[in-house]
Amino acid sequence: MIASLLIANRGEIACRVIRTARRLGIRTIAVYSDADAEALHVREADEAVPIGPAPARESYLVAEKIIAAARQTGAEAIHPGYGFLSENAAFAQAVMDAGIVWVGPDPSSITAMGLKDAAKTLMAEAGVPVTPGYMGEDQSPGLLADEAGKIGYPVLIKAVAGGGGKGMRLVEREEDFADALASCQREAASAFGNDHVLIEKYIASPRHIEVQVFGDRHGHVVHLFERDCSLQRRHQKVIEEAPAPGMDAATREALCAAAVRAAKAVDYVGAGTIEFIADGSGKLSADKIWFMEMNTRLQVEHPVTEEITGVDLVEWQLRVASGEPLPLSQEDLTIDGWAMEARLYAEDPARGFLPSVGRLELLQFGDAEGGRIDTGVYEGADVSPHYDPMIAKVIAWGEDRDEARERLEEMLQDSAVWPVKTNASFLVKALQHPDFAAGTVDTGLIGRDGADMAEPPVPSDEVLQAAADALVPLAAIAGFRLNAAPRRAAWFLLDGARVEIELTGQGSAEPALGVLVAEQGQAWLLSPWRHDAVHGATGGSGAIMAPMPGKVIAVEVEKGDRVVRGQKLLTLEAMKMEHTLTAPFDGVVAELGAGAGQQVQVDALLVKIAEDAEQDV
Ligand code: ADP
Ligand code: ADP
Ligand code: MG
Repeated sequence: MIASLLIANRGEIACRVIRTARRLGIRTIAVYSDADAEALHVREADEAVPIGPAPARESYLVAEKIIAAARQTGAEAIHPGYGFLSENAAFAQAVMDAGIVWVGPDPSSITAMGLKDAAKTLMAEAGVPVTPGYMGEDQSPGLLADEAGKIGYPVLIKAVAGGGGKGMRLVEREEDFADALASCQREAASAFGNDHVLIEKYIASPRHIEVQVFGDRHGHVVHLFERDCSLQRRHQKVIEEAPAPGMDAATREALCAAAVRAAKAVDYVGAGTIEFIADGSGKLSADKIWFMEMNTRLQVEHPVTEEITGVDLVEWQLRVASGEPLPLSQEDLTIDGWAMEARLYAEDPARGFLPSVGRLELLQFGDAEGGRIDTGVYEGADVSPHYDPMIAKVIAWGEDRDEARERLEEMLQDSAVWPVKTNASFLVKALQHPDFAAGTVDTGLIGRDGADMAEPPVPSDEVLQAAADALVPLAAIAGFRLNAAPRRAAWFLLDGARVEIELTGQGSAEPALGVLVAEQGQAWLLSPWRHDAVHGATGGSGAIMAPMPGKVIAVEVEKGDRVVRGQKLLTLEAMKMEHTLTAPFDGVVAELGAGAGQQVQVDALLVKIAEDAEQDV
């Protein structure tokens, strides 16, 4: 077994890998950017090496710096985590060339599966059913449009180098094809440096079902059953579970056998995932499930597999990288119960899921029997605008699906984060959705019903009344009584916005200056009314700032324009995604801080909306 390990990653996955390595007695080495000097993975590792400025392309994505850090610390092996350099064949090769053990598949396997078109061609040859579509070299728009017509609408345009749900466009009608193609190619070129696309039949009622595979250097390949990741928002996984609802034994066997065939076709070593798309309009059956792509790394949602199989997949990765055979054979692997994972993000569903960065002044995770939290932050840590704003993966296990789902809901309900906004209440509502609860989910569910889930949660009257009591002096309430007011209510500030709360208690002998109230996975600061503080802390002043560094790609308004709440103001491209910024309230565009094409820093003023003077009187 290797004796030391450098983790070429950050956040929860770096912490996750460190945890297992430590248990196995392996010395751990973290790398960190300037933004991460105080990060949890740095604190948890035995040693940590700085590798440069905050932007990932100047630190976590620089192969030479990581290899130099490994040399400097005498690290015997490198684990890439997921994202960053994990599916970069050149990096894997450079690690091996430096005489360091690469915890992952051979570079040739990564390359074979790296581009979606080549991977599909290879899989078809290996007898794995692939999603019907066009995956040719010719990229002329006319030909692609013809191919789309032949496949039949709706079709999906996919960047062959895409990942993380980016670089994909659903096209339902022929007349929309040209625009969608251009926008997909633009996003692909900027995010992946490769504008090649393939065209796929868009599967009706699609379900995303994937199989965990594992290979070693002794000729063994096993599968660890399937996961269902159908609950997605804009092609990104939101909630994942294992096993897949409605999967019968025969379909499972056929699907998992196809996954093992796929892995063997590329001589796969280590942990990998074969992703399939299934037609979920009826009962699952093997002839309606097709290969989509392979991820040649550990997957974000690997914990649900661990929870139902009892296998520590990171331990297996480290054993296989050390040359050991797989610890278990296929016959030894069984499914025990059900597991479900939710990705808790620092983002604001009510504002188009914009990342919500800043310090985690309050960070508390709910607990439940069989519960597990994989996190990369701690209370007092910062959510940086430079990286994926995931706070934690919240994972629950149960004897059956309902128990796992209810426990996960409980864990999310009991979490509390402030002042950073999270998607906790969105996740809770998703878990409670009748179709999800019944196990009949498809990837379009959030697109159809997500608006309700994204509504900002509000604290209940009971919790507000209890908190208000702590803020109001005893005497003040007595005063209300003496005047025999019909209603005893007072004004407060709830995260900077004015609220009226009915007072039901006695008030406090020593009134607090502010109280954090927590409910539905969210927390709010309730404080005494100050007339000048309304809209203050929340940016409700009408100043729209860049939530992260990025590039303005479109400005929809001009100075002086009258806008209504929710109206699109501009589009910012950041973290490989396009984010739409909207007006927080009705008003007038008082200032425009950036034009199309401009690069902006975090917190740069983009637009200022002034409240409509006429309405203000
Ligand atoms: P998985 O396929 O493991 O379930 P996803 O599909 O959600 O994970 O994401 C694919 C990959 O993209 C992951 O390796 C993840 O780390 C990475 N990723 C997701 N969001 C970002 C981001 N904003 N910046 C960089 N990498 C990201
Ligand atoms: P990525 O590399 O970004 O993960 P994938 O090819 O795995 O890209 O697709 C991501 C998601 O897009 C899938 O999980 C699924 O929701 C949706 N999707 C992909 N291909 C299809 C398809 N042919 N029909 C319907 N939905 C699809
Ligand atoms: Mg995928």
